[in-house]
Amino acid sequence: MRVLKFGGTSVGKPERMQHIAQLINDGVEKIVVLSAVSGTTNSLVEIHTAYKKEGKKAAHQLIDKLEAKYHPFIKDLYSENASIKKATALIKEKFDLLRSFKSKKFREADAKTILAQGELISTHLFLYYVQEIGLNATLIPALDFMKTTDGEPDLKFIAKKLRKTLVKSGKHQLYITQGYICMNEDEEIDNLRRGGSDYTATLIGGALPATEIQIWTDIDGMHNTDPRVVKDTFPIHELSFDEAAELAYFGAKILHPSCVLPAQKSGVPVKLLNTMEPTAKGTVISEIVTSTPQRVKAIAAKDGITAIKIKSSRMLNAYGFLKKIFEVFEDYQTSIDMLTTSEVAVSLTIDDDTNLKAITKALRAFSRIEIDKNQTIICVAGEFKHTEAGVAAKVINTLKEIPLRMISSGGSRSNISILVDSKYKVDAMNALNEGLFADILKKKRTK
Ligand code: ADP
Ligand code: ASP
Ligand code: MG
Repeated sequence: MRVLKFGGTSVGKPERMQHIAQLINDGVEKIVVLSAVSGTTNSLVEIHTAYKKEGKKAAHQLIDKLEAKYHPFIKDLYSENASIKKATALIKEKFDLLRSFKSKKFREADAKTILAQGELISTHLFLYYVQEIGLNATLIPALDFMKTTDGEPDLKFIAKKLRKTLVKSGKHQLYITQGYICMNEDEEIDNLRRGGSDYTATLIGGALPATEIQIWTDIDGMHNTDPRVVKDTFPIHELSFDEAAELAYFGAKILHPSCVLPAQKSGVPVKLLNTMEPTAKGTVISEIVTSTPQRVKAIAAKDGITAIKIKSSRMLNAYGFLKKIFEVFEDYQTSIDMLTTSEVAVSLTIDDDTNLKAITKALRAFSRIEIDKNQTIICVAGEFKHTEAGVAAKVINTLKEIPLRMISSGGSRSNISILVDSKYKVDAMNALNEGLFADILKKKRTK
């Protein structure tokens, strides 16, 4: 069985939905994971924020605006009146639900229910379309099998319930399901965080396990650096699971930060493919050591980072200092991304500063603190052997004009991380692109 995930832009227009229906119509059994129509989840975020902050009237205005986009969508998608009727009834049901919330006593669970409607709508619209053109398809509701406990996917539950759901649904060519949404341990609707449809696909692919997971998006695979920041980028055809995981975690938006692990655990290869250009090679992520060894593979960047410097006058020859620091972060369930140490101080970074005040207070009890906000982690991913010279030197030399707040190397064989003030991000990313990929770019430019 294959698992294919299509992102927001891939289902973002009626003709795109029609196009992917052709793409998957090859007679082979598959699970199709869909995101919400592009822009919908952003609108749903605005809607629940309006309910919370501005009140019902403002929320309803936004709901009307979003609903108005779906009517022409339906009209263009289907040829048969029966499909249009079914889809119109679905839209009415979903938008009536969106209008049913109250501003007073608006709960976090209500926000999650609102956010889930995007994927519930797109999967039903797609199901009605593929049924209209005669494909043998069914819907397997993600809320029946996708579950989190303490915010993390419950892998055992997912594997067991997914198998049961598939058996119950009978034999079909296409099993369509929602990305992103899940139930939590309180039996309430929840989600796998923004961009979570990738994660749904790899959780399903890992649980089965599938023969292959395909992530179809709007670009021809993982590029050597972020095309939104750097102009001259190129696709990378092969990545190891470790390299892809580092890049996803450190900001390569093409993949959800946690989505590599379930595929890696089960050894299921992940292909990144372009819906707009289906014959492009894309990227294969697997355990295989690449056929064309290349030490630096790609660069990603993660914004919104806070750096904390923790100084202790008594650290010289003292032990237990790091333990005390880590305990504070554990108490406030805040994960640390980067860490560098000297004999008298530790610098570390966090991306979630919800509990920063409390963390700072707890750290101040035994140290002096300095905080730098608006930082960016730049992650250089590749195959870095400790026995080989030159890679770190090249990275740092390339950035010689840019002030570097932290440098971390040696934590793993696939990552060198640099922390810079976010105002230097664009310059740093462009300098690294020109410096680390000079040969490839030269070839590309003379073609
Ligand atoms: P989808 O809606 O299909 O999930 P996303 O917008 O989440 O698509 O991810 C695809 C986008 O990720 C690309 O259009 C591109 O702008 C961005 N991106 C960021 N870094 C990279 C990278 N290294 N390689 C490819 N795309 C990247
Ligand atoms: N629709 C969700 C989002 O926009 C999930 C996804 O697209 O992966 O974040
Ligand atoms: Mg995405």
